[in-house]
Amino acid sequence: ARKKLGKLKKTRAVTLDGVEITLLANIELPDDCGPAMESGANGVGLFRSEFLFMGRIGEKLHLPTETEQFASYKQAVVAMKGRPVTIRTLDVGADKPLDANEQTALNPALGRRAIRYCLAEPHLFITQLRAILRASAFGPVKLLIPMLAHAFEIDQTLTIITQAKQQLREEKIKFDEAMQIGAMIEIPAAALALPMFIKRMDFLSIGTNDLIQYTLAIDRVDHEVSHLYNPLHPAVLFLLSSVIAMGRKAGIPVSVCGEMAGDVKYTRLLLGMGLLEFSMDPIHLLAVKQEILNSDLEALTTQTKKILRTTEPSAIAAAMIQMRAA
Ligand code: PEP
Ligand code: MG
Repeated sequence: ARKKLGKLKKTRAVTLDGVEITLLANIELPDDCGPAMESGANGVGLFRSEFLFMGRIGEKLHLPTETEQFASYKQAVVAMKGRPVTIRTLDVGADKPLDANEQTALNPALGRRAIRYCLAEPHLFITQLRAILRASAFGPVKLLIPMLAHAFEIDQTLTIITQAKQQLREEKIKFDEAMQIGAMIEIPAAALALPMFIKRMDFLSIGTNDLIQYTLAIDRVDHEVSHLYNPLHPAVLFLLSSVIAMGRKAGIPVSVCGEMAGDVKYTRLLLGMGLLEFSMDPIHLLAVKQEILNSDLEALTTQTKKILRTTEPSAIAAAMIQMRAA
């Protein structure tokens, strides 16, 4: 089966009724661009930049400098040969501690992580933004901000980006003036108050890993509750479909970059919700592409509407089986 999938590398991901889907890769380090290109990805939908910052504990915490970060981002941009690279700003805390010696909060997943951390450490944030902006001179770069929930966080973030750009202009350092800026939708509050994101952002990317964690109140790294982690919970489906539909209505691109996007079990459901962009670990990309090639979008749209009309898990499960059988 693997050999057969291999043949799909250069095939465009088009549904049976002719709709083209964008398939992107999730990466952790620039070297992951090799496998991403190998899989035939249309670009990088999620570069988890925190991996450049983690595991650097020596005598004292040594964080990558602007020059080091720039070299890594540029390496990814060059390796992707003109395909867009979506770089997510530092998402540390909770299951991704910057420093193993760090004092952990009682509820790290609800604590000062991701954008909250960056806004509390503006020097660290502006250093990263400058490095990302500098890489944008070498190919298409998009900037993705994790864990936003409040309008003022978006506005503060945009102000710091403006400052970083102004510094570079004054130093006559090149960058892409039109670099797109997007938000991760991974906190239920963000999904439920989407217009404030649509108004301020160029694109959205749904992080199902955290969205499910926070919607269902289950720690994503706690094995004792992992049986409760269910992407098909009707509340999760409601949030997902509403974000995708509102984004499409507003004409703002929406992708899914959580693990759900790379799980072939959910490909048809996400297609049926109207999702046009999937970002995943490249190892899953060809299997998802194959599923898309065998899918009739119009039929899936009807079947998905039926799923979204019920909150009965047994009815959802039955409809999912029917959907995958076609
Ligand atoms: C997510 O939350 O779905 C996501 C893509 O981000 P991460 O897994 O890095 O938290
Ligand atoms: Mg996340």
